[in-house]
Amino acid sequence: MRPFVLDPLFASLSSLPGIGAKTGELYARLLGRESLEECRIIDLLFHVPSGLIDRSKQPGIALAPQGAIVTVTARVDRHQPPPRGNRSIPYRIFLHDDTGELALVYFRSHGDWLLKTLPIDETVMVSGKVDWFNGRASMVHPDHIARISEGETLPLIEPVYGLTAGLSPKVLRKTIEAAVARVPDLPEWQDPPLVRQQGFAPATEAFRQIHDPRDAHDVDPQAPARRRLAYDEFLAGQLSLALVRARLRKTPGTPVSPTGELSSGVIDTLPFSLTGSQEDAIADILSDMASQDRMLRLLQGDVGSGKTVVALLTMLAAIESGGQAVLMAPTEILARQHFATIGQMAKTTGVSVEILTGRTKGREREDILERIASGEAKIIIGTHALFQDTVNYNNLLLAVVDEQHRFGVHQRLRLTAKGISPHMLVMTATPIPRTLVLAAFGDMDVSKLTEKPAGRKPIQTVIMPAERVGEIIERLRSAVAEGRKIYWICPLVEESEETPLMSVEERHAILAQTFGDQAAVVHGRMSGPEKDAIMMAFKSGETRLLVATTVIEVGVDVPDATIMVIEHAERFGLAQLHQLRGRVGRGSEASSCILLYKGNLSENAQSRLKIMRDTEDGFLIAEEDLRLRGEGELLGTRQSGTPGFAIASLEAHGDLLEIARKDAHYLLERDPELTSPRGEAIRTLLYLFRRDEAIRFLHAG
Ligand code: ADP
Ligand code: MG
Repeated sequence: MRPFVLDPLFASLSSLPGIGAKTGELYARLLGRESLEECRIIDLLFHVPSGLIDRSKQPGIALAPQGAIVTVTARVDRHQPPPRGNRSIPYRIFLHDDTGELALVYFRSHGDWLLKTLPIDETVMVSGKVDWFNGRASMVHPDHIARISEGETLPLIEPVYGLTAGLSPKVLRKTIEAAVARVPDLPEWQDPPLVRQQGFAPATEAFRQIHDPRDAHDVDPQAPARRRLAYDEFLAGQLSLALVRARLRKTPGTPVSPTGELSSGVIDTLPFSLTGSQEDAIADILSDMASQDRMLRLLQGDVGSGKTVVALLTMLAAIESGGQAVLMAPTEILARQHFATIGQMAKTTGVSVEILTGRTKGREREDILERIASGEAKIIIGTHALFQDTVNYNNLLLAVVDEQHRFGVHQRLRLTAKGISPHMLVMTATPIPRTLVLAAFGDMDVSKLTEKPAGRKPIQTVIMPAERVGEIIERLRSAVAEGRKIYWICPLVEESEETPLMSVEERHAILAQTFGDQAAVVHGRMSGPEKDAIMMAFKSGETRLLVATTVIEVGVDVPDATIMVIEHAERFGLAQLHQLRGRVGRGSEASSCILLYKGNLSENAQSRLKIMRDTEDGFLIAEEDLRLRGEGELLGTRQSGTPGFAIASLEAHGDLLEIARKDAHYLLERDPELTSPRGEAIRTLLYLFRRDEAIRFLHAG
């Protein structure tokens, strides 16, 4: 049970003033949740400021620099409403101080409200951005107004938060203030000597400080309050991983003794021979599974390195040993794709391959569940639906989790919580730096696929300015005439975005002028079946040019697609570019990748694109990515933190991770059931960061 002290933080976000159905939707979007019901107050507290606005500059009107945010104390002289019926002319209000005159400018505003807020002869403080034009100063829609006579003041330092379209900074700040007020007195779960050594404030205080920055240092990731909560988060993560591992060790696995009758048949029919590292990985896995101890192994392999066939051969080993195997993919598209390729590869074996996803409904679903329970279904491929409570396995010996770039132990936890203890193989598209492996997976055994399958041609990569797009379309026209297939990727455009980015729809409309029905578009807002149909048409060759957002990023396999155009390549992170580019170069034909950029590139952006041009080595790219991002550049529209973490970032707080790992081990060694006073407080910590699933293992024995 969650400790009562956390109740105020886990209250629904809707219990804060001013959050209704409509704003609720905005908050859900902001916090990356499906609906308002899923948003808790704690989620908003984890939405930390990305910077601050300093309104403390009060130079006087005449000395306010162009474009600067200033605060002015001035007297209201007169109102100048727009002529009746002409709403396109703004409402102006003139103020003066000792140094000069300032016009406040309001578009489409109510005069009544303005007269009340800014009465003539009143002295007010206004804050906002100053614009100079023809020697006159103006301020369009000031951010704050305070009336001196009423004793009002305005915040001189203000945190800035990541926003979503439709949510104003003012409203968000107010809500966060209300959320901060709900933070209870939290117990201290950290070791006192460490608290002293690191200069950590108490957690309660840390939440307050993070949301009430006083200067630029306070919004830096290295600010003491942030480090405190980052450490808390790392420790919670390391503890839950350690608890899961301890539990895994306690429940013995079933040794798998493969006969080779199924897998050898598949190997014989493969149109290629396995690479050395594929063979090594399979040997590692089989030897792990042959033992009583449950396997917990990570298979890292760059895009296109051939993880799927490794997964299939190990699943067949489990089946030869009389069991079942599941393969879980992060998305529906990927699950369907695995189902198609694996079904094809396993055909000659006669092993039944099934698919179970959130979209499997009704009669079909019941039938599959029955076959899973009876053991008739051998290989079951799907999404997290595979691990729902209604699914009962007959004899699950192996679970393969294809994580791609999403990390998390949740699915694994859920499986273990169901009381089944299959061997576990987690596959990720490498390369993940070691620190990230540690943070996301803890100490796992690792196999790496380091070789590219034989026969792969290098991908020729070029960098071009978007202005030359006409030329590129011409080239693509002849490529399509030769029967080639092309991906054209555009970044996701958020509604709040002000920069002129090309969206998939716009780009598709332009390309359709040249390619007609041969150009198709796919994006995240489409329904699952719609997306599938479009992918199938591209795969079959009915369409030749696929305009897409990064929804196609993960895993989609169309081996005869040979050209990849990435628009606004400067907006993508290196890892993502690498992942995208890996969609081509999968067949025997030579492939190419065109990185289009717009505008003047920063030096950092130039270096990134050059690395892409110069190498295909995923490990090198990952290292460079970490190095360049270390310089603090924000990639894409989102602040790219460490996946799976709300506050902690490996880049900024990497030093704390190692401490947390040791701390977790030390703690569990002395207090494995978390019953000491610190242990009790640690439980609260685990709930706070939603790592509480691990707590169940304590009593479960
Ligand atoms: P990923 O590791 O990205 O999941 P896949 O398993 O999808 O890679 O493999 C990519 C492609 O490479 C597939 O078309 C697969 O059939 C092929 N492939 C896998 N192993 C080899 C190999 N040893 N030699 C040649 N082609 C291979
Ligand atoms: Mg794959």
